[in-house]
Amino acid sequence: MNFRTLATSSTSFLCTCASNNVAFINTCTSLRSFCCQNKLRFYCKHSRSTPTTQLYQTRDASSLPEKTTIETIAESLRSNAFKKVLVVSGAGVSVSAGIPDFRSPGSGLYDNLHKYDLPYPEAIFDVDFYNQNPQPFVTLAKEIWPGVNYRPTLTHCFFSLLDKKGILRRVYTQNIDGLEAVAGVTEEKLVECHGHFRSSACIKCRTPFDAEVCQSTMIEQGEAPKCNSCGGSVKPDIVFFGEVMPSRFSDLVHYDVASSDLVIVLGSSLMVAPVCNIPDWVKSNVPRLLMNRDLVGTFGKVNDVFMEGDCDDSVRELCRLVGWEDELDAIYASTHSQP
Ligand SMILES: [Zn+2]
Repeated sequence: MNFRTLATSSTSFLCTCASNNVAFINTCTSLRSFCCQNKLRFYCKHSRSTPTTQLYQTRDASSLPEKTTIETIAESLRSNAFKKVLVVSGAGVSVSAGIPDFRSPGSGLYDNLHKYDLPYPEAIFDVDFYNQNPQPFVTLAKEIWPGVNYRPTLTHCFFSLLDKKGILRRVYTQNIDGLEAVAGVTEEKLVECHGHFRSSACIKCRTPFDAEVCQSTMIEQGEAPKCNSCGGSVKPDIVFFGEVMPSRFSDLVHYDVASSDLVIVLGSSLMVAPVCNIPDWVKSNVPRLLMNRDLVGTFGKVNDVFMEGDCDDSVRELCRLVGWEDELDAIYASTHSQP
């Protein structure tokens, strides 16, 4: 099969050309292809031939085998048939920890920023605004610094359980609360797409800054640390608006989506690119499980499984079906007994 055949077929392809904006192939007229390890790869010539410009075949449910249900997924987990589980998580997995969802009307973080007197809610994650007035973010950072005020949820512990079972391919999280790591997920299995608090740097010259000093300056003194090199403001390596995502995402996502055998999406509105596209990039025969309050993204196709409701309830139900409930509770108990 060559590009011409594919392009004239009814199959749709997605291009992640340029800045993570997804474009359908028919809006991107200058395509070229090459063969890589016996697999055709397609690239838009507007973008460089880096892995981030790969084209993905969209899912074709007609090629899927038997009907997937939560019972068949549980049975496959119990029989150790799944060995590379890819997890995508959003703010909904941390709500039961007490961390407000950024987008939920009323309880969402953006609706509760009045005390910061921000010119607009997103300014709290704006680098230029931070340069002028770091205080709102410092106040927020004191509140949500990982391991200080909040403990992992049952869902975070489920990720840790998958890791301990040796079947976790990766967790891609949109959250910055760091609770996956607090729950015991190893850093190698984590892609924190919007950064984390475990390292910090100057916003002007990017010189790394001691993360422990950054933490103590922000939490104990309530101030933004100053760069030792240029005097600029220092912040944790949380990705602000206008900043590039950690290269770890583009370094790993292609390998992970190509090699995963089960995808679980939890507590995400699947609205922020490029993370929202991950469930569509996996191979068409890979089952997809959504644990969420709402049906989101492209879920709802044949052989997708939707567990509607709170993530913790759905995680417990899945673990009950697999026979993992005691192990899940043990991890939860251990993460909540830590000082
Ligand atoms: Zn500096």
